[in-house]
Amino acid sequence: MLFFKYSRVKFARTVDELKNFLASRGGTVGFVPTMGYLHEGHLSLVRVSKKECDTTVVSIFVNPTQFGPEEDFERYPRDLERDRKMLENLQVDVVFVPTVEEIYGNGISTAFLLGKIAECLCGKSRPHHFPGVALVVSKLFHMVKPDKAYFGQKDYQQTLVVKQVVRDLNFDVDVVVCPTAREADGLAMSSRNVHLSPEEMKGATILFRSLKHISELVRKGEKNVSALERELQVIIQSEPLAKIDYAEIRSAVDLSRIETIDKPCVAAVAVYFGKTRLIDNILL
Ligand code: AMP
Repeated sequence: MLFFKYSRVKFARTVDELKNFLASRGGTVGFVPTMGYLHEGHLSLVRVSKKECDTTVVSIFVNPTQFGPEEDFERYPRDLERDRKMLENLQVDVVFVPTVEEIYGNGISTAFLLGKIAECLCGKSRPHHFPGVALVVSKLFHMVKPDKAYFGQKDYQQTLVVKQVVRDLNFDVDVVVCPTAREADGLAMSSRNVHLSPEEMKGATILFRSLKHISELVRKGEKNVSALERELQVIIQSEPLAKIDYAEIRSAVDLSRIETIDKPCVAAVAVYFGKTRLIDNILL
């Protein structure tokens, strides 16, 4: 087991170190998988896990297989010392920080076919993304063997993909989805926000403002999905720095297309600010 100097949080670098630590503990295990550069969104998941489980494991692993060749794997923010301090404050039991070699060895041949749930929204513009997420989450579930795993609603499509994998492959784990943590101005917290200029950061508040606006229209009785999507897109386009990847309303259950708001729906957006792609959503 590797201890950072003066650190009270245990760091496991290898699967064996992690398993040895977990073998020394009894009770239930809660798991919060992350890519690090932590913020209040991640910490909110950790707090729920700490409340609900005897042991909380946080993983920090920037997973290369969920990034496409032209995407921001290299540019993804990393700062383990900063993360360590945050997790120490929360008294996390163990932080799993594997290397790429530890997770993938000399490569991997097994791949996921996820079907419809992963083909739309983020799956359309990032075809590598969800198969990579499904792969790493499955491997981490086998390593950690959690009773409960905590994910953020901010990545709504990801929560559906993970639930599908858990169901289809009989993982014995409860997937718990926690609310999106936001800045005071409504911007969803994200590790990638660090790349935004002050102007982009201000402009990015249009995401949640537009989502809230259509949620309000639905509350007042608007049911026409095309009209609502048009409204969503027009509002986002009113921000000069925003470039829409998608802004759509779909079934909250399986992300299928719908024409009328007559069942649980999700409005989901992905928008570029410069090179930084941000996502957000609201349940309707
Ligand atoms: P990431 O490090 O971005 O891969 O995120 C790790 C976990 O934290 C995922 O389950 C995310 O959905 C969740 N998460 C990220 N941002 C937020 C947020 N603003 N609020 C709640 N959960 C979040």
